[in-house]
Formats: sequence, C-alpha cells, structure tokens
Amino acid sequence: MQRTDKQSLQALEQFARVDAGSIEEWRQRWPDFFPADFSKRGVRQVPPGVSMIAQPQFPVIPLWKGWRDVLLQAWREAFPLTEVIRLTVGPVSEEIDLLSSVTEHPYQQALLLMAKDPWRARFCSKCGKPFVALKANAKFCGPECFAQSRLNTKQRWWAKHGPEWRRNRSQRKKRGRAA
Ligand SMILES: [Zn+2]
Repeated sequence: MQRTDKQSLQALEQFARVDAGSIEEWRQRWPDFFPADFSKRGVRQVPPGVSMIAQPQFPVIPLWKGWRDVLLQAWREAFPLTEVIRLTVGPVSEEIDLLSSVTEHPYQQALLLMAKDPWRARFCSKCGKPFVALKANAKFCGPECFAQSRLNTKQRWWAKHGPEWRRNRSQRKKRGRAA
C-alpha cells in the first residue's frame, strides 16, 4: 500500500473516533483531508425512516457530525455503496444540506463496483473492446465473440492439421481398396 493511502486511512480512522472535544485537534492534524469549508458548513440530519417532506423542521447540525454519523453507519455495515456515495458527494456538493438525502446515481454505483472488483475491467480477446467480466475466467465480451473465437480455433486447427488429416484418410481408403 502506498504511503499516501496509509495516511488517508489513518486520517479516516481517527475521524471515525472524533467527538466535539477532539474535532479541533483532528482538524489541525489533517487540515487538507476535507474541502476547506467543510468545518464551517451545517447539514440537516434526517433520522432513518423519517419522511423527507418534513425536512425543514430538522435542526442544522455541523456537517462534520453528520458526516461522522454516516461514516460510523458505513463502518458497521461494511461500507454499502449508498453510504459511500453520500460520504463522497456530501462535502464537495454546494447544494446539499441534507446529508441523508443524497441518493446514488447509477454511474456512481457502477464506478464503485469497478473499484471494488477491478478484475472485472477487461478487453475482449476477440474484438478488443472493453467489457465488464461477470465471471473470473471471462475472456470475451459476449456470445458472438465467443462463438467467433471457437470458429477461429477450428479454422486454425484445419490450417495446421487439415492436410495431414486428408492424407491419412486417403491412405486408409487406398488400404481399404487393396485389401
Ligand atoms: Zn468482443
């Protein structure tokens, strides 16, 4: 693991343990971890299961607190994509004052799925186009390329062994006649 990766993870770990008494100390130790205005922003926190229609009634809490709560939730639940996207988008989005209302778009989900299983990113052995492997041993982008490659294998076999195969066959026939 790269040194910068280790440091990021260390900062995240320490942030997950932060409270009102230690946030300032954390901020001084990791000043660039979040966007500059992160510590000044507020967010409305909607408790789980509460209808979004009632949102203006919820008090504004510091963004770092709301973010930490979602982080802890993600920590407990093995980082589900929905939480990861909320956490990723919340601090950089201008419009969002509701951390809990961020829903993931399919493009974000797809990118995260690829990052989680990078072995899925492949190029087809037949047509060369990029494709997402659903199985570990996938080599082709679809049934068409698979079938064509089978055909090629057969053609290659014939080009190499065809003459010999024909020779053997005609010899068998001759022997048959001679007997
Ligand atoms: Zn292909």
